[in-house]
Order: sequence, then C-alpha cells, then structure tokens
Amino acid sequence: MSQFQSLEEALKHFFGYDTFRPGQQQIVQQALQNRDLLIIMPTGGGKSLCFQLPALLKSGVMIVVSPLISLMQDQVDALLDNGIGATFLNSTLSWDEVRSREHAILNGKIKLLYVAPERLLSEKFGPFLDILRSQIGISAFAIDEAHCVSEWGHDFRPEYRQIKQLRQRYPDIPVLALTATATKRVREDIIQQLMLKQPSIHIASFNRPNLYYDVLPKHSQSYNQLLKLIKSHQGSGIVYCLSRRSVDDIAFRLQNDGISALPYHAGMSDEDRSTNQTRFIRDDVQVMVATVAFGMGINKIDVRFVIHYDLPRNLESYYQESGRAGRDGDPAHCTLFYKTGDIIKIKYLIEQKPDPKEQQIAFQQLNQAVDYAEGTECRRTIQLRYFGERFTGNCDNCDNCRHPKPIEDWTIEAQKFLSCIARCGERFGMMHIIEVLRGSRKKKIEQYGHHLLSTYGIGKDKTLDAWKMLGRSLLHQGLLDETNDGYRILKLNKLSWEILRKQRSVQIAITQTPVAKTLADISATSIEIEILFERLRRLRKQIADANSVPPYVVFPDASLRLMAQKQPQTLEKFGEISGVGTHKLAQYGDRFVSEIRAFCQEQQLPVPLPNNTNMVTLQFHQQGLSIAEIAETRKLSPSTVINHFSELLEMKQPVELNRLVSVEKQKVIIKAIETVGADLLKPIREYLGEEYSYDEIRLVRAWWRREN
Ligand code: ADP
Ligand code: ZN
Repeated sequence: MSQFQSLEEALKHFFGYDTFRPGQQQIVQQALQNRDLLIIMPTGGGKSLCFQLPALLKSGVMIVVSPLISLMQDQVDALLDNGIGATFLNSTLSWDEVRSREHAILNGKIKLLYVAPERLLSEKFGPFLDILRSQIGISAFAIDEAHCVSEWGHDFRPEYRQIKQLRQRYPDIPVLALTATATKRVREDIIQQLMLKQPSIHIASFNRPNLYYDVLPKHSQSYNQLLKLIKSHQGSGIVYCLSRRSVDDIAFRLQNDGISALPYHAGMSDEDRSTNQTRFIRDDVQVMVATVAFGMGINKIDVRFVIHYDLPRNLESYYQESGRAGRDGDPAHCTLFYKTGDIIKIKYLIEQKPDPKEQQIAFQQLNQAVDYAEGTECRRTIQLRYFGERFTGNCDNCDNCRHPKPIEDWTIEAQKFLSCIARCGERFGMMHIIEVLRGSRKKKIEQYGHHLLSTYGIGKDKTLDAWKMLGRSLLHQGLLDETNDGYRILKLNKLSWEILRKQRSVQIAITQTPVAKTLADISATSIEIEILFERLRRLRKQIADANSVPPYVVFPDASLRLMAQKQPQTLEKFGEISGVGTHKLAQYGDRFVSEIRAFCQEQQLPVPLPNNTNMVTLQFHQQGLSIAEIAETRKLSPSTVINHFSELLEMKQPVELNRLVSVEKQKVIIKAIETVGADLLKPIREYLGEEYSYDEIRLVRAWWRREN
C-alpha cells in the first residue's frame, strides 16, 4: 500500500476509475489481509479488479488460473495496456518463449501470471513454482471461472479438480475463487473442491441494471423486423439463432442489406470461426450471427445489443447469453423475438432426448422460458426470481415496466373459449377450438360435427390473433392446461371450471405489436457530442489496430462518451476522465487531447449548416420550449415550426418526438401509416379520425420515414 494514501487512490492510479463498484473495496481489503475468498458476481460485475488490485499492492506474484487461452490473452493485453506487468504461460508458446517469460518473472517484472490448470500441475512447472515462491514470493492463487471445478456447473473441467493440490503444497498462500455462476450447489462445491479455508463469501446481485430487456412478437416478416432493429442500434451486436442453417441464412441476408455481419457456428472450420471472432472483437464487423456455440470465453465488453432470434432453451442460458451485452456497464439492449411456433421446434428437440428424466427437466425449463417471453410483469423480476433473488420490480428498464400492457376484462370471451373446449370433448388443440369459435367452414370441423355445437361461430367478432392471445394468456395464468406430448391438447382444470361457473373473472394483458417501441427510447443527445464520439472512436480504432488489440482495451465506450461530453482540452483535464489512469494518460493523452482540440476549434468556425432556421428551432426545442412557444418567440406560424421539425426529424436531428406527440398517439399513427401508406396525409387522417391532427401525423410520418 505504501505509496498510496487510500485504496481509491491506487484504483485511480492503476485503472483510472474514481470509485469502486459495490463489494470491490471490501474484497480488496480482505485479500490484502490474506483471507481466502469466494467471489460471485455476474458477468461484467468487475471480478478481475478484485484480484488484480491486490496483486499490485502485495509483494510477490499472483498466479491466476484461467481455463481459456483467449481469456488469458485478453486480460493480459488489457493489463499491459495499463502499464501493469502481466504475462501468461500456456501451450501456444514455444519452449524459448516460455523460458524467457519465466526469466522475466524471476526478475520481479511481473505482478500477475496467468496459467492454464494443466500447466500449473505439470511436473516441469512444480520446481519453477518453488523457486518463484522462495525468490519473489507468491501473493495468492486466483482461480477464475471457479465453477469449472463443479460437475453441477455448466462447464466442468476435470483439470480444475487437481487445483487443490496447490492448497496441499502451499497451505499458507491464500486462494481467491471467482465465478459468475449463481447456484448454491456450485458454490458449495467450489468451497469444498478448492479446500477454501473459512472463506469470506461475496455474492453480488445478478441484476444488470444497464441492460434493457424486451420481447418482440415475431411475425411472418420476421427478417424485416430484425433488420429494422439492427439498423436502429449503434455499435457491436450478436444475433443468436437456433440452427446453423438460419445463422448462415441470416448472416447472408444482412450482408446483402448492407449490414456488416459474419456467421459463427460449430459447423464451420476452426480457422473460419477464429477469424470471424477476431474481426468481431476488433470492430471490423458490426454483427455476429451465431448459434450458442459463440460466446463462451469471448471477452468483448462493449457489445451493445444481443438479439435472440429464436426462443432460448431455458432462462439460465438466456441470462448468460443476453448478459454478453454491456459488460462495460454502458447501456445495452437485449431483445428476444418470440412466437409460439418456436415452442414447437424446441419441444421437438427435447423429444429427441433419450432419457425421460432429462426430458422432464428440459420441458420444465422450457416452460420457464415461455413464462418469461409471455410474462407481463417486470422482466428483471422474472429473471432474478429464477436465481432465487428477490427484486421489487418496476425497474423502468424493460418493456413491461416502460410500456405496461393494458389489462382488460375478458371473462365473457374466456367463458366462450373454455366452453368450446368442453363441448369439443377436451380432445383438440388451440387452433381447432378457435376455428370452431370463428365458424370456420373447414371440412375437418364438419367431419367432427363441430359445426353443430352451440359454440360454433360465436366468436366471429374477434380475430384469430385475439383468440390466440386469450388462449396463451389463460395457459400462462394457469387457468387452462395443455398436454405436454406432441399434440398439445387443451384441458380444463379446476380454475377453468370456476370461470365457467361464473365464480372467477379473467383479466388479460392486451399484447399489441409494440411498433413504436424505439420511439420512446430515443433521447436527445446533442449532435456535437455524437460527432466527437464518432471521431474518438475512429482514433481509438487506429490506435488499437496499430497495437493489435481490441479497441475497448484502449478505452471503453464509457470513457469515450465522457470525453465527448466534457471535451477536455488539456492533459490535466483529460486525466480526470474515468478510465484514464496514469499509464494511459501518458500513452494516449496527447493524441486524444489534440483530436478534441481540433474538433473544438472546428466547431467555432462558422460551419454552414444545412438550414439555419431549422437549427434555431432545434435549439429552442432543446431548451425546453413547446411548438407554440417557439412560434411565438420567433414570430412564425406554428405550421412553419412544424415544418422545421419534420425536416429535422427526417435529417435525424435529435428532436424529442415524445414531447411533440404523445407516445400513445405515435403508436396509433404508425399503425395507420403502415396500413394505408405514407405518401398522402389525407388517407392517414381519414383512417385515424378527427382526434389526430395533420400536424401530429406529419411529425410522426417524418420520424417513420427516416426509420424506414
Ligand atoms: P467480469 O470479469 O466480472 O465479467 P470485468 O472484470 O471484465 O468483469 O469488468 C467489466 C468491466 O467493468 C471492465 O471494463 C472493467 O474495467 C470495468 N470495471 C471494473 N471495475 C470498475 C470500477 N470500479 N469502475 C469502473 N469500471 C470498472
Ligand atoms: Zn422491469
């Protein structure tokens, strides 16, 4: 500790951060007191710092055990970029390289040494460890991805079982175990298998507040939905698909539509996979379309969106896969595309499993995933409940919290639906029941004589989709059952009968297509900041390429954004930005500061803007004035101001549409535009009626045009 007044000062010096994340400081303190530790934090929680900072403050070398070569490489790159002595030993190195690295270690130049478990316990390495311990000292063993010792985890590695020999050989050297796996069973296994001595256990919340979760209904034109969504995002993203074929197909189509995308799945050669992965990590391509084979051990922290194009098999995988977004703590978006047809695909896969026990577990897990997709409560609450964590809900960062679905009383409809099931003898699936209700003339219905039932045709007033929504909701609320074999037959249960006997009412959430979803999410960011941010990104990419490291190793997005906002024009001010440590200041400060200065100077020149009068309106808007106020101040007619806004919107200027037209109205207008077309205002107005003004329609149409 000697040279630092406090742990915070050391944190800023080495890593450039001003404050610890929850839990980190106490962990570092306990590590400095040589305690054994078990650290459980979600992905992106900041585990690495928990052993890296103690390693820097203690004498000797910290040995870090890590299961994957790519992970080691990334962590060592990031440490070196902070000017910290770190290295790794693994099977990719030649004999000579190993020799020279061992030399550097014994010369005291290294604070963190990363090794694979099999090397750690190899015969040749034992004597080296002994020498290291006596000459330099070993400050601790940090076991990363510690769940690999457990057969109960999802990633068991037998080599990890032997790590306990270290404990036997060096009983007084502390052991720190780290993992992102949450279950109790794995936790207990880690303590036992690694022989941790009265470890201090730290379990962080699995909530990832920076991730926005939503679920979008998947239509027949689902590819277009996907394309539109990807276009609305900035930065890197992953699209997960169920099958290799759809990975190839989607990647190909995205490429054709001008998105830089690459495929990744187990059917490709190792070489192709690794090339694609590297290009993704280095920001040479924006989107990785992949099966779940992609992700483990990929240390890209600035993934801005993860889209599941198909329903995941269970919630744990969904949490882990979607959790690859936003590891840098910056806002990121996790979208699940869902249609009930996906359930059938997965059920089919499950039915191929030979073991009935396994099948049963898989079905149970599938149901939980479906509950998530169809749920109307806070998505976070559902996920965290799965991990045994209580979350109060109302996170304000998921679709259900931001746009709660309206609840309606559908008791009468439910009675019709359930009574139709009863009358058909509880022997049919949902589609058949709906066809009877809607009075279908299909032959099949007549063959069963169902056209003679009293419920035949009593549901003509509702669409197929409306009845499906009701059916799913009844299942979801447990007011109706469905058999789990391949046929999915609807069966009445106790609660269904209560509804039929008028002892229970039925409320359902009306799930409309949330077309206008992204509208409300658009917030005003000044153009200037965006432009500078892009320039700094470009500079970062140049530096990263020259040093052969991923861009986020140079600076994370969050630091770049702060630079763009605060625009520090001196090295001193630059050093105050979170993420700029002493070493990075010296290494990159000059180049970034000159870029920022150049930008600021250019801004002061009278830049010819596309249209000055529009920009004046925009400025007033950003100061919080309404349309009427702007018109009055500028002595213009309101419709002229509306014209300005329409142009600004089409030119992607940061207009806050939500302040001009309510979100509810936006949704309806967009629906109208998508129904009657965008070319003429009049038909849209006629479709919508008097309640919607031409001005409102024009504004939303301008927004819609630039999005399409
Ligand atoms: P994990 O290993 O738990 O997935 P990392 O250790 O990779 O997470 O940390 C995720 C990100 O958070 C990294 O970019 C890291 O630099 C950053 N980070 C860690 N601690 C802090 C902190 N105290 N302040 C700001 N950023 C931090
Ligand atoms: Zn929520």
